[in-house]
Amino acid sequence: PERREERGPAGRGALDLKTDQPHTARMYDYYLGGKDHFPADREAAEAAIAAFPNARTTARQNRAFMNRTVRYLAGEAGIRQFLDIGTGIPTSPNLHEVAQEIVPEARIVYTDNDPIVLAHARALLVSTPQGRTTYVEADLRDVERILEAPQLSATLDLSRPVALSMVAIGHFIPDVGDPYGIVRRFLAALPSGSYLVLSHGTADHDPGMEQMADIYRGRGIPFRNRNKAEVERFFDGLELVDPGVVLVHYWRPDGAVGKLTDMEVGIYGGVALKP
Ligand code: SAH
Repeated sequence: PERREERGPAGRGALDLKTDQPHTARMYDYYLGGKDHFPADREAAEAAIAAFPNARTTARQNRAFMNRTVRYLAGEAGIRQFLDIGTGIPTSPNLHEVAQEIVPEARIVYTDNDPIVLAHARALLVSTPQGRTTYVEADLRDVERILEAPQLSATLDLSRPVALSMVAIGHFIPDVGDPYGIVRRFLAALPSGSYLVLSHGTADHDPGMEQMADIYRGRGIPFRNRNKAEVERFFDGLELVDPGVVLVHYWRPDGAVGKLTDMEVGIYGGVALKP
């Protein structure tokens, strides 16, 4: 099989990108019109688009949701610290660019477990001089390893509120992976006044999303759509801010959202406060 090796950002040695297998980060980059994908990713992404023709629209709306929620958190909610789980290949504007435009001193920890994200992490590390960004390479299931990473303690003060962002990642955690427990363990480490921002794939409005999930699963990538009640469960014990859990284009839309049908956006999202 084809193997392409690239150098990591800080002389970390060769990275095995496993280019013969599709990767979620690179398929998502393909939906978004990026350049960081290989033939196996494009084949899988095209099959996913054939199953769910609105995959590109959904990916773009998910990015727009991330932008609006981070503007809300840095602006109205007064959040200065962000812990982003499952960051993805850098796509401008990235979370820190959105947050630091409002709060230049904002501090962001990015995490992902895909070597292609590590290979591009430099783009995530260009912080304002007043703020700080860092990158932790880790599997999100290793909650304690992320929370105890030296880069994290050098960047975030866990005695002050943090926004935990888990955007377009929960559907990659099957039930046996205990996605609810993972979110709960992260939130347990954060003080009152912290927030959760989460978005999650759903087949509630178009069965094509379930056919798309089959495309991922058929290529060895777990994919679990969840219905509205199952997505709301991630926010148990938290105080959802208006408008609650909705398809992401309904979350405090701005002028850029335009008219979209529910079938076009196969992803729910919400923001909630930890009381
Ligand atoms: N949050 C970004 C990217 C979503 S794509 C956005 O919404 O725009 C999903 C990302 O989650 C990919 O980059 C993938 O590599 C990452 N991911 C998937 N499973 C993971 C795991 N177990 N641990 C860490 N990251 C994971």
